Amino acid sequence: MLPDPGAAPTRTDAIVIGGGHNGLVCACDLAARGWSVRVLERRSVLGGAAVTEEFAPGFRNSTASYTVSLLDPDVIRDLHLAEHGLRIVERPFSNFVPLPDGRFLKLGGSLEETQREVAKFSRRDAERLPQYYAMLERAVTLLRTLLARTPPNVGARGLASLRDWIAGLRLGRQLAHVNLEDKRDLLALFARSAGDLLDGWFESAALKATLGFDSIVGNYASPYAAGSAYVLLHHVFGGVNGKPGIWGHALGGMGAITEAMATEARRRGVLLSVDAPVAHVLVEDGRAVGVRLEDGSEFFAGRVAANVTPTVLFEKLVGAEHLPAAFRARIGQYRSGSGTLRMNVALSGLPDFSALPGTSAAPHHASGIILAPSLAYMERAWADAREFGWSREPVVEILIPSTVDPSLAPPGQHVASLFCQHFDPDLDATRHPGGWDGAREAAADAAIATVTRFAPNFASLIVARQIHTPLDLERKFGLTHGDIFHGVLALDQLFSARPILGYADYRTPLKGLYLCGAGAHPGGGVTGIPGRNAAREMLRDGRA
Ligand SMILES: Cc1cc2nc3c(=O)[nH]c(=O)nc-3n(C[C@H](O)[C@H](O)[C@H](O)COP(=O)(O)OP(=O)(O)OC[C@H]3O[C@@H](n4cnc5c(N)ncnc54)[C@H](O)[C@@H]3O)c2cc1C
Repeated sequence: MLPDPGAAPTRTDAIVIGGGHNGLVCACDLAARGWSVRVLERRSVLGGAAVTEEFAPGFRNSTASYTVSLLDPDVIRDLHLAEHGLRIVERPFSNFVPLPDGRFLKLGGSLEETQREVAKFSRRDAERLPQYYAMLERAVTLLRTLLARTPPNVGARGLASLRDWIAGLRLGRQLAHVNLEDKRDLLALFARSAGDLLDGWFESAALKATLGFDSIVGNYASPYAAGSAYVLLHHVFGGVNGKPGIWGHALGGMGAITEAMATEARRRGVLLSVDAPVAHVLVEDGRAVGVRLEDGSEFFAGRVAANVTPTVLFEKLVGAEHLPAAFRARIGQYRSGSGTLRMNVALSGLPDFSALPGTSAAPHHASGIILAPSLAYMERAWADAREFGWSREPVVEILIPSTVDPSLAPPGQHVASLFCQHFDPDLDATRHPGGWDGAREAAADAAIATVTRFAPNFASLIVARQIHTPLDLERKFGLTHGDIFHGVLALDQLFSARPILGYADYRTPLKGLYLCGAGAHPGGGVTGIPGRNAAREMLRDGRA
């Protein structure tokens, strides 16, 4: 239900379906050019997967997405997010990785500190680390130049093909300056497995696990699966407050980002509605002309941008009769399912890690704590999920944001985000007849038990827990198969092929309909980039 349907005009220049962060960025950019824009969000809170909510009395946390790095600095600046209260703080160091043998690895801080830590395991690896970081930084620099561009759109016709040809030339000229070694590195990062890449660089299992963790975050695959090196790269193209590659905490949780975006949207005159689930895209003479909500109310616009997943858009919201059969068949094969379970827990105190004992707040409590001692452990976790349905010894990252942001929990208590891999999005019904509804508690118990093996007091600290299986992520956030990125980040679904070849320019087979969410280039993460790129293409097409 809309708050006040009569107060605003039913026709605007643009409608955005979904008030996730990309939808909000898209709306802001359109409004900045004088367009009238309406955002329709299905949930009762704006922000999509970047929201902060109370999950137990007195305990708030980022419900889904929980750490920030990839958010485009231009978006932060242009949308005045800092003026609207957004503060992103760094962690004392990036990662703390406790090991079963009682040792631990700390990564982050200065390069010298990290090298000293790594040298505990391998002097050779410590010496190679600066070269590895430099290789990644060169690849990231190249990747960054591609992020804010509309990818070359294979198969474009007419004026679009001319535009595309010019864009291709520009890209070619830019790439021509990149030296051959860097091109080789980039190719390896796009095509290889993270495991192969890291085995080629390092010998220490703990270091390879710490660096390789990014390759399986939101990637239901072994770290030895081809293409997993790209997922690693995708996690390191950002930074915090000008410091490249690190991850930080948005004070107030991830909702602080989208609240600041919503404030800017309102300032620009965008009409924001919550509890407004879109049921259909309205089509007339082969073009999108508006939407119908589940309650039957209709809104009209010259252009419609969809922040929902490609699968939701093309299989649920747009009638099959409006799409070419070949396109529908391809979208039917679009791969989604990151195999993630996300839990929020309220804690009466801090975990006491066997590898670094202590229950008073210490720097390691405030870092990203990775429970995955080796690439082999990660591979086993994935194989177990393939066989059993979920990993009974999952890979877990724990963040305890209340250590850097006391506003989230009552004094002396804490909240923790548990991000757990691997949990099959399509549970085998013969083995688990109750599906995820029946398996939810057992899968969560496996994650808690895993943490408790590294920090024996952990289970006893838990006051409340909120569990999101892949099914819960789909139900709550509209994420197809619970995919945190709106679709697998693999070579066949990236860049010119996102969501599918021929539709990488944010346009769709329906005139007037655009994709502005993470299912479009450059994919998932709280970046704001798909929203911004889509708005640019819509502005290029002009008002209708
Ligand atoms: C569990 C989890 C953990 C993650 N962790 C991180 C992290 O730490 N850092 C990071 O950078 N990224 C993280 N991500 C990824 C990141 O959050 C997403 O890729 C990103 O939020 C996608 O943004 P979006 O605006 O494109 O889409 P979404 O955030 O998915 O927003 C889409 C919006 O559309 C709405 N919607 C759906 N259907 C309809 C409809 N019919 N009508 C109206 N509205 C509709 C949804 O309710 C939602 O608000 C995580 C994601 C998840 C799920």
